[in-house]
Amino acid sequence: MIDCAIILAGGKGTRLASVAGSVPKVLVPVGDRPVLAHQLDLLSASGYKDVRIFAGHLAEQIEAFVGANQWPSLKIQIEVETTPLGSAGAVIKKLDRLPEHFTVLYGDTMLAVDLPRMTAFHEQQGADVTILVHPNDHPYDSDLVETDSEDRVTALHAYPHPAGACFRNIVSAALYVVQRESLRSWAGRVEKCDFAKNVFPAVLASGGCLYAYHSHEYIKDMGTPDRLKKVERDLLQGRIKVGNAATPVPVVFLDRDGTLNAENGHIRSPDKLHLLPKVAEALRLMRESGYRLVVITNQPVIARGEVSVADLAAIHQKLEWELGLDGAFLDAIFYCPHHPDSGFAGERPELKMACLCRKPATGMLDLASAEFPIDFSRSWMIGDTTIDMEFANRAGLRSILVQTGSAGRDGKFPSATPNFSVNDLMEAAEIIANASKSLSEA
Ligand SMILES: [Zn+2]
Repeated sequence: MIDCAIILAGGKGTRLASVAGSVPKVLVPVGDRPVLAHQLDLLSASGYKDVRIFAGHLAEQIEAFVGANQWPSLKIQIEVETTPLGSAGAVIKKLDRLPEHFTVLYGDTMLAVDLPRMTAFHEQQGADVTILVHPNDHPYDSDLVETDSEDRVTALHAYPHPAGACFRNIVSAALYVVQRESLRSWAGRVEKCDFAKNVFPAVLASGGCLYAYHSHEYIKDMGTPDRLKKVERDLLQGRIKVGNAATPVPVVFLDRDGTLNAENGHIRSPDKLHLLPKVAEALRLMRESGYRLVVITNQPVIARGEVSVADLAAIHQKLEWELGLDGAFLDAIFYCPHHPDSGFAGERPELKMACLCRKPATGMLDLASAEFPIDFSRSWMIGDTTIDMEFANRAGLRSILVQTGSAGRDGKFPSATPNFSVNDLMEAAEIIANASKSLSEA
């Protein structure tokens, strides 16, 4: 059982000075309480016993706050570091006084993560370091992670990224579970260093075992006035809730080709993928309205041997990166790699089958449901074919046909009529945003 947490509270909060004055970042209020109080509540409720707060700037205010407030189940120690040593330097300096494994939180993040579930994953994998990852709306200035299909980390890309970079939107959310001994080679050094930029890349390079823990739970930094405003709004609207399994969420399911990107024959390489106009804006509007966004796409080109799984990953990398440059992201992309008909040169016989996931079959919904609980009664499907509309009917989703791509002229399911027919994704997003508004006003 991992019951020690480190809170990195040394940040000066320079970027928050305009709203917070001379208060350390961890004492900036979110709602009616400092972010530190929210974190200590979570740690206490998650069964933690031992909390070390690594403070620097204005540490006396943190000491006074902790002294005046009660978390009876927590033993809270404050380590004061007067020389700024970066996110990792202060922790490494005290390495021998730390337990065998611990969770690391940044003091400027608001989070509602099922921590026991994450630490159980860490222990199951036998990881040296586990990093919580998720997609966000600014991957271009975030620390990014690359993984293999088993979620083992294969590369780390700390911000800033080189010009022309293009990565999957797998962002380190700056929440870690760490085995003390994985940092052993750094012991004794007193120097400024950062977990994401220096320490974890070195652990990876020396053969350490790092895992990415994918989560759709709430975790956001509030380190700028703009981000603080968003986090406060989320708190007010009840969007900060612990656990993947707690509250079903409405989802907009999206077809890919002809809906998000221009229909361009079968897309076989990233350079053939071009987003349609205003797609990122439409996705932002639907997310602002409280929806998760999940792409479900038939990719028979995999079964036919025309596109490899690696090629498809490269295509989706471009899709995610371009959306990210425009402040939009997808929660998940699911694809059906199967195809029922044989007879293509180079085909992959093991994928030639009548499967349960090729739209209009609804198998991809089960994959999405495994990621987060879905409120189907408030969910939608947007696509450009009658196959997508038939899928929506079978799944019990409200449907919107867009006049981009096939514009419903594929003729496969003529009787599958959509609930709405619109010009493009932006118009579809406006319908959904209005529907959610009238729902919340009712
Ligand atoms: Zn399939």
